[in-house]
Amino acid sequence: MSIIPEETRQGRLAGKIIIVTGAGSGIGKATTELFREQGATVIGADLKGADHVADAGNEDDIVRLVSIAREEHGGLHGFFANAGISGGLASIFEQSVEDWQEILRVNLIGPFLAIKHAAPVIKEVGGGSIICTASVAGLRSGAGGPAYSASKAGVISLVKTAAQQLSGSNVRVNAICPGLIETGMTEYVYERARAKGVEDRLGHLNPLKRGGHPSEIAHAAMFLASDESSYVNGHALVVDGGLSSSHPFNNQSYGRTAI
Ligand code: NAD
Repeated sequence: MSIIPEETRQGRLAGKIIIVTGAGSGIGKATTELFREQGATVIGADLKGADHVADAGNEDDIVRLVSIAREEHGGLHGFFANAGISGGLASIFEQSVEDWQEILRVNLIGPFLAIKHAAPVIKEVGGGSIICTASVAGLRSGAGGPAYSASKAGVISLVKTAAQQLSGSNVRVNAICPGLIETGMTEYVYERARAKGVEDRLGHLNPLKRGGHPSEIAHAAMFLASDESSYVNGHALVVDGGLSSSHPFNNQSYGRTAI
């Protein structure tokens, strides 16, 4: 299901070979579907529910996915390093070193491995696009646990460093920072709100007054994967309904237009 009008969705990724991690659910699944609708060949990878079983934080698995693109499809134009885990909302004082290591391994080392192994192969076809899923949690506190937030801040930093280190290669590296999106990761939030009859409060802190749909992140990913974003590089694109555009405030009418 997509809430974006049908007429805007036509062949914008024709001929591109793109790897997507976390393709079995949520944002990765919606993006895989959209990329395929747009004419891309997608190598979807996940621990479960996708074409290829792969651990996004395992170097051998990433090397294998990139060689599938190269050997079986003739090259690689893009990599959407999207797989992620939240690790829950436990505080710094409740999390262990092992919790941190696993969250950083999947959420931050995963994108590092994607860039490390995909960029040289993307360069071989003349350039392309690597997109990493960060989060508004990487911008400031309040949208995830401490290790999750740190991992996503790391992804935002990583894409900037990587874009610089790929200077002259025509390989672009960008991040997407989603706000609250209804997926497997946030299912418990939505279920709890529905059970309490307060579903309309989900996303009520952003000016659009709603949570996001995976297709709305998929469309941002499509823009970054396509040649339409050919001059966008080293950027973290926030897709959060406007949530992070404001500091918290008490007066509900402050700064609001009364329409
Ligand atoms: P999701 O749980 O629906 O999908 C994540 C997918 O990643 C799952 O299919 C899972 O099996 C897979 N995965 C987890 N660990 C993996 C690993 N080691 N190797 C391969 N696959 C693995 O959640 P989602 O919301 O679609 O998450 C996608 C990305 O979006 C994540 O990076 C997440 O941090 C990010 N994000 C989500 C939200 C949100 O509100 N849902 C907000 C900001 C950022």
